[in-house]
Amino acid sequence: MSTLTVTPRTRLVRRPDRGSFDRATVHAILDEALICHVGFEVDGQPYVLPTVYVRIEEHLYVHGSVGSRMLRSLREGAQVCVTVTLLDGLVLARSAFHHSMNYRSVVLLGRAQEVTELPEKRRAFDALLEHIAPGRSREVRPADDLETRATTVLRLPIEEASAKIRTGPPIDDERDYALGCWAGVVPLALTAAQPIADPALPAAIPLPPSLQPYRRLR
Ligand SMILES: Cc1cc2nc3c(=O)[nH]c(=O)nc-3n(C[C@H](O)[C@H](O)[C@H](O)COP(=O)(O)OP(=O)(O)OC[C@H]3O[C@@H](n4cnc5c(N)ncnc54)[C@H](O)[C@@H]3O)c2cc1C
Repeated sequence: MSTLTVTPRTRLVRRPDRGSFDRATVHAILDEALICHVGFEVDGQPYVLPTVYVRIEEHLYVHGSVGSRMLRSLREGAQVCVTVTLLDGLVLARSAFHHSMNYRSVVLLGRAQEVTELPEKRRAFDALLEHIAPGRSREVRPADDLETRATTVLRLPIEEASAKIRTGPPIDDERDYALGCWAGVVPLALTAAQPIADPALPAAIPLPPSLQPYRRLR
């Protein structure tokens, strides 16, 4: 199915015109962003923690130390809400009230499952590296068995999810278009500066192809 099923939990109430349940749209946002925020509850206290993730087909993978409380909670089947946000611009209106932001975001609800099979864990590690810097998984030493076992990997199905997208100029009140103040959009994008070599790196080792130059998808 090219469209995600809308559920009572993912139906957009506020500005539904900005919502999308198109899988390709959701995937594109997930593939471009670098981090997600994972919301979960422990003993009635909500936590929202940032972490790295990667999408492989119809699943989102997160990983971390076996000691991570976040991953332990998720592994035990807790309900989880993952959000991913790409900030595309500052929307500066003629009134304080109508200032906004241009963005593309995804909200994903569900329960995670632990990945225990070593081949799938290794595939997730490679994909995580590729998500950060395409080509990187072929340039470095892969995780050994000890490192693989010391890492918890969880996958969350991309089933109950929504995207929301704001684009374009500010939307002002009719009475304010005559005001003399500047209005418009300041576009924002994530860009990388020149890589800085590790001081311990021998001078003969050149920048790898994955960093020439380093660019995020768009
Ligand atoms: C960078 C950024 C800045 C924002 N600033 C503001 C702000 O200042 N004030 C404000 O009120 N809102 C802001 N929003 C929008 C905000 O995320 C919510 O969409 C909005 O507040 C409506 O919340 P709600 O609980 O009424 O949503 P509802 O419409 O009731 O949410 C129902 C369902 O819609 C989906 N949904 C809602 N919001 C999103 C989303 N952003 N992305 C994907 N799916 C979504 C979820 O599945 C959710 O469970 C901002 C969003 C972004 C990304």
